[in-house]
Amino acid sequence: MDSHLSPGERSELVLKQLTLDEKLALVHGNGMSGESQWKMPLTPFTNGGAGYTQGVERLGIPPLIISDAGYGVRASGANGRYSTAMPSNLGAASSWDPESACQFGEVIGGELRAQGFDVTLGGGVNLTREPRNGRTFEYAGEDPLLAGTVVGNVMKCEQEQHVIGDIKHYAVNDQETGRFVVNSVISKRAMQESDLLAFHIAISIANPGAVMCSYNRINGDFACENSYTLQDVLKKDWGFKGFVISDWGGTHSTEKASSAGLDQEQPMADYFGLKLKEAVDAGRVPLSEIDDHARRVLYAEFLAGIVDDPPHKGVVNIEKGLEVAQRIEEKSIVLLKNNQAVLPIIPSKVHSIAIIGGHADVGMISGGGSAQVDPPGGNAIMPLGKGGTHWQDHVWFPTSPLQALRAKLPNTTIEFNPGTNLHSAASLAKTADVAIVFAYQWESEGMDLPNLSLPDSQDALIEQIAAANPHTIVVLETGTAVTMPWLDKVAGVVEVWYAGSAGHKALANILLGDVNPSGKLAMTFPKGEADLPRPLIAPLPPNDEGQGHFAVNSETRVSSYAVHYDEGPEVGYKWYEAQHTQPLFPFGFGLSYASYAYSGLSVDSSAKTVRFTLKNTGKRAGTEIAEVYATLPKEADESFKRLVGWKRVTLAPGESQDVTVAIDPQVLQTFDESKDTWMLTHGEYGVLVGPSSGNTPLRASLRIH
Ligand code: BGC
Repeated sequence: MDSHLSPGERSELVLKQLTLDEKLALVHGNGMSGESQWKMPLTPFTNGGAGYTQGVERLGIPPLIISDAGYGVRASGANGRYSTAMPSNLGAASSWDPESACQFGEVIGGELRAQGFDVTLGGGVNLTREPRNGRTFEYAGEDPLLAGTVVGNVMKCEQEQHVIGDIKHYAVNDQETGRFVVNSVISKRAMQESDLLAFHIAISIANPGAVMCSYNRINGDFACENSYTLQDVLKKDWGFKGFVISDWGGTHSTEKASSAGLDQEQPMADYFGLKLKEAVDAGRVPLSEIDDHARRVLYAEFLAGIVDDPPHKGVVNIEKGLEVAQRIEEKSIVLLKNNQAVLPIIPSKVHSIAIIGGHADVGMISGGGSAQVDPPGGNAIMPLGKGGTHWQDHVWFPTSPLQALRAKLPNTTIEFNPGTNLHSAASLAKTADVAIVFAYQWESEGMDLPNLSLPDSQDALIEQIAAANPHTIVVLETGTAVTMPWLDKVAGVVEVWYAGSAGHKALANILLGDVNPSGKLAMTFPKGEADLPRPLIAPLPPNDEGQGHFAVNSETRVSSYAVHYDEGPEVGYKWYEAQHTQPLFPFGFGLSYASYAYSGLSVDSSAKTVRFTLKNTGKRAGTEIAEVYATLPKEADESFKRLVGWKRVTLAPGESQDVTVAIDPQVLQTFDESKDTWMLTHGEYGVLVGPSSGNTPLRASLRIH
């Protein structure tokens, strides 16, 4: 208990006191609550969460009480508790704001502790390589620097609340189809420069206690028994000192997984329970491996502060959560189109508004799966009595945009039509000064979207409303990109993502101009699926059981299902640029009610900083996210630019500011497979600065000797 010692020293001292059984108890789970296939004698100790690992009571080492917490604490409904839903992670990433990310983590960390948990399973940083991936909303977009920075800051601040932080799903777990068996085939160089780079950046910032290995295989080996990603990269190259925790049911072996660097099996003890003990007794697994696994779990406990300060149940600070959720959503909403300044709505000019579709009278949709946060009072569109949320329910939070707008516009006539009858919806739209159509796209873990179209005939609804009213605005509540066949016909488009517990209020503030939009897309919106690296997600072969947890036992059979990531590091905007394909909306795009001018770029090659002037040329104060990209010297043979930095700059109307952005050389490097190391190419780099990846008016060069 000498807190002057480092986590490393303290874990070493404890390890020396442990019996073999005590060590072995630290390296596996004891079931999961609510899941009938995952029951063990100690499952009730999960506190209603995802997992439980025994501590060492006689030495004051607390147990791990583990909960999912992607955008808020999971399963609060079934446990009779309350949790705040932050905006979806992809939404929050659109703020490009490390401070907001930190507050996101702080709120969730505090709520986990108040509910009795000391390990979070948040921290998803898989790149948006496949935008139809049903978990896109849980991740932070397609760029390694942006995603790594946002998720790193979320987890840094979450862990500061004294819960063990986690970064997941390591790695190249970029689609849900066949997720338990799929083999992600990708070159080392490409993996290092894309997916792994995002993890490295997030882990460097957060210093998390845990990293979760994913379900899929990577170049043949399951991610939870892959010695390249776990041992060579994560533990040796990056110096990760915490523990590797398996995704739930993602462990497939004892000896192989243990020596590859898996430290803890969850949520069961199928391979790291009795079988591991037998393997140790028989000398097939060296004791040093068990010591390493146990030491890492203990290290994480000291690092996160849960030995000195275990969780105490308490009352969640609801007001604080709602306030933070609203502020983050206000920074995350992206204004995609605003013809003839249809937005913001000016109450003296707009006397009537038609609100159409999307259950906007009662609420806003959220993302499903293990990240699902339960809404207070239950699902807003399910009849009372069926209020509990299940894994893949479509859950609407009771956050009504209709009510939020009515509250702010008491003198405006605001009427609602559900949009189920096109004729009646169009009639209402015709009578109003402005029509706002609410469109949703639900997605979840355990599925991929068949395409990027809005479901449930919403494209047809939008077409009808746009034909009836020239001032039609579309509000998108989506988990990923959507196609917009009606884009030319509407006046405005606002992307609000899954907007969280206070999304309706944030949206009302944006629509009325009380908050000037500043969010920018953390992922490209393509024109259609044909432009993606893989126009179709290949289905699992018939009779392949890869969607079922227990179906595939690597010791007996291996699925042939694979996805070849031949686009390599060309993820998102890099792909479209290399292919010379115009997207619908480029990565980094977002409008404001102000306008900004960029000028005077200069580069200091030795300090690796860029400087330019940004001016607010509009009539409102606003925040612009100024983006800095680089192209590599010719020898690097790279046909796309990379995001290398950005700054959020708040400016009054007419105000100018000199902006300096430092470039971290890490994001200029390439990975040399033959030498198995990173290198910085010497020569002339292009530096491009502007408001989005599709518009970089300032150009200069940077020389590296
Ligand atoms: C998901 C993880 C999650 C775990 C525990 C898995 O199915 O992939 O993200 O943390 O379940 O619920």
